[in-house]
Amino acid sequence: MAEDSIQYDEFGPEKVIRVSDRKTGMRGILVIDNTAKGPGKGGIRMTPTVTVDEVFRLARVMTWKTAMADLPFGGAKAGIIAPSDVIKDKTKKKEFIQAFSRAIKFICPKLYIGAPDVNTGEEEMRWFVEANGSWKAATGKPADMCASPGKKCGIPHEYGSTGFGVYHSTIVAAERLKLPLKGLTFAVEGFGNVGVFAAKYLTEAGAKLVAVSDSKGCVYNKDSIDFKSLEKVKKETGSVTNYKPGSVLPGPDLFELEADILIPAALPDAINRGNVEKVRAKIIVEGANIPMTAEMEDILHARGVLVIPDFVANAGGVISSYAEYRGKSPEEMFKLVEKKVRKNTKQTLTLAKKNGVKPRDAAMQIVMERVRKAMEKRNRSTTRCSLQSVFL
Ligand code: NAD
Repeated sequence: MAEDSIQYDEFGPEKVIRVSDRKTGMRGILVIDNTAKGPGKGGIRMTPTVTVDEVFRLARVMTWKTAMADLPFGGAKAGIIAPSDVIKDKTKKKEFIQAFSRAIKFICPKLYIGAPDVNTGEEEMRWFVEANGSWKAATGKPADMCASPGKKCGIPHEYGSTGFGVYHSTIVAAERLKLPLKGLTFAVEGFGNVGVFAAKYLTEAGAKLVAVSDSKGCVYNKDSIDFKSLEKVKKETGSVTNYKPGSVLPGPDLFELEADILIPAALPDAINRGNVEKVRAKIIVEGANIPMTAEMEDILHARGVLVIPDFVANAGGVISSYAEYRGKSPEEMFKLVEKKVRKNTKQTLTLAKKNGVKPRDAAMQIVMERVRKAMEKRNRSTTRCSLQSVFL
């Protein structure tokens, strides 16, 4: 296939695996990027168009994200190529997920641990784990899926760990700029898992939500949007654009509105060459993965906008995965997300200031050092083991 143009480097990828199942028609991809710190962790996305390149890029992001959160996991990602009719049909979807699970059982959970991603959630993780046979094969499982009765249970991503982490990262960023959170205005692109919880916690802390978007458009009210009514409107009508009072604007206009804080929580490249100069926020906290390129971050940094990179701000999901893997309760999980995301945001901003660079450059320095160190340690122990076997 022509799509595979992976650039191999010192970090990986370690394994690029393609699988298929004749009976169901399932075709799947697993990329294990780097396992120096532990088994590769990353979600399983199910789309008609997922490619090896896409899975690899996402696996690399996971290598950095798990290193930033300082977890005993490496980076990986999986993709199941599935037509839309399979994704919509529960029976067929289950067959695909279970065929994929069986096909990668030889390496999962030893070197790969699954998680939800695009078009997969807690139910799909149940199917995946049932086909694998090990409770540890995936995280983001339903809360009733326990290793022993009532103990070591699933922690679904639906609990909102990522949005909760984005909220804590925002607090640290505002503190750095010496801006009290109470009264600051903010706008959120996307009102899904990440956007809803980021907005919920920020409004509860006294920040003022002034704009929100979803796939149908954007609603703006400079005096503030009531979070609870907004949530109700979204649930009942399917879109935030039905919220009143407020003006309804095209979705992309959100990035140009007057708001102190901007939280992209939906699409890649949402901030781009076309709108970067029009961004008016003082702080941007990247809830989505890759909501802008490093080049756009450079432009914003030069203008004095504080941008917290995705793999620092949105690590709540993978921290929750770790908590689940270790058999912790949801309460313990939330405490861990708060502690780790705050610590990592602070560390990133401190190093960025010290080196006079943008936060992403500082964060990259931190994670590359951590992964290199783990790789050196692994190499030393592999050399020791082979020497021992030579002398035995
Ligand atoms: P989701 O599917 O729950 O929600 C996505 C939201 O984006 C929906 O409200 C949808 O209406 C909205 N949307 C779609 N098209 C849009 C458009 N053109 N303009 C504005 N909004 C639009 O997804 P999610 O889980 O909240 O993930 C959002 C982003 O965060 C993705 O980039 C994802 O990779 C990233 N992320 C998610 C998690 C997690 O735990 N859920 C963790 C890390 C990163």
